[in-house]
Amino acid sequence: MSKYFTCRNCGADVPIEACGCPECGSDRETGWSEAERVIALSEKDAQIVFSLLENPPEPNAQLKAAFEKHKAFSGDK
Ligand SMILES: [Zn+2]
Repeated sequence: MSKYFTCRNCGADVPIEACGCPECGSDRETGWSEAERVIALSEKDAQIVFSLLENPPEPNAQLKAAFEKHKAFSGDK
């Protein structure tokens, strides 16, 4: 189910959600492209939203802010 991208340092297949290359230890600070950096952030945002949907939280300013941010970002009405 995981998506993979190619490590720019060693060419290994690296799961998108991985924090670093399992083969050579490169991480997104040292080895990935800007495009892959954006994907990693989007995955993180998606996880936040999914966790909110599955476990409706007590109203919490930080969570509400995160949700509003996602709505604005995705163009939701
Ligand atoms: Zn690598």
